[in-house]
Amino acid sequence: MPATIAFLSRMSAEYQAPYLAALRSALPEETIQPLQALTPAQRALTTIAIVANPAPEDVAALPKLLWIQSLWAGVEQLVAGLPAGSPPVVRLVDPEMSRTMAEAVLAWTYYLHRDMPRYSRQQSMRVWQQHTYRRPSQFAVGLLGLGALGTEAARMLVNAGFVARGWSRSAKTVPGVETFAGEAGLDAVLASSDVVVSLMPLTEQTAGLLDARRLHMMKPGAGLINFSRGPIVVTQDLVAALDRRHLSHAVLDVFDVEPLPDTSGLWAHPAVTVLPHISAPTDHRTAAQVIATNIREFRSSGRIPGHVDMARGY
Ligand code: NAP
Repeated sequence: MPATIAFLSRMSAEYQAPYLAALRSALPEETIQPLQALTPAQRALTTIAIVANPAPEDVAALPKLLWIQSLWAGVEQLVAGLPAGSPPVVRLVDPEMSRTMAEAVLAWTYYLHRDMPRYSRQQSMRVWQQHTYRRPSQFAVGLLGLGALGTEAARMLVNAGFVARGWSRSAKTVPGVETFAGEAGLDAVLASSDVVVSLMPLTEQTAGLLDARRLHMMKPGAGLINFSRGPIVVTQDLVAALDRRHLSHAVLDVFDVEPLPDTSGLWAHPAVTVLPHISAPTDHRTAAQVIATNIREFRSSGRIPGHVDMARGY
């Protein structure tokens, strides 16, 4: 009988329930219990924890832990909260999440490509004015980040006929996509894209990456979509770029502080679309299946699944 798997989360019991139910149904051979339900003897033997916003002291309460499976794809908060020498963190890489994110990138790219913010403003002023149509093949989308989410978004954009450019830390080959790496590569993607989409993790290198200087490098009239993490974009620099109409519109799903405070000027900014972190939610069922595969592989081989490079931060 394998040791009980601990489920660590600061989510409310109501919010946790469907995750626990999906995990138990995907792993009927395992016992999965919230930390509070584990006896001291069970805690002492637990080798795997499944986590969603765990308290660092809850992780520390499991002395034999060998690895931590995150229910989220972004793990910067988890990694930042763990002391040096903590067990490896395996983040969620779920093809269904990649598909959902790619769908969101395509949907909001169309929103900007088909000038929806502009026609909506015109309607509110009863203005009947037609603007030039650009085919997708005349419209370039620059993806910052070509990982699990970025490559699927690139594939969907290419299938829809858009010009897709991608930037990553290491050089990459993605079919149909012009790829770039390094500082010079970023400048080239920013300068040549009609929409720039952030799909990078938040790390020391990416925090504040899209600042006044880099936003200024973007094409006049370009749009920005941030679907990864708020602090990658310097909010006041973005607002300044929108106010002076250098950029036309920003679609933001992620913010420095979430939920976005009532007092934020972004709520009412005419060139900003505010979304409540919904571009690619974790799907309980498919996430549980991905996690079940990871845990079964570990049980049979003893190998910990591919995990986060703590020094790199993702
Ligand atoms: P991933 O597979 O780790 O891919 C990250 C990509 O970013 C990789 O291509 C990586 O380059 C690139 N990158 C990282 N640091 C870089 C840097 N300093 N310069 C240039 N490129 C850099 O991550 P993912 O699964 O695609 O997820 C990306 C992020 O999306 C997550 O970290 C999370 O924050 C966010 N997310 C948001 C939502 C939402 O609902 N809004 C949902 C899920 C995820 P290499 O390929 O060279 O490593």
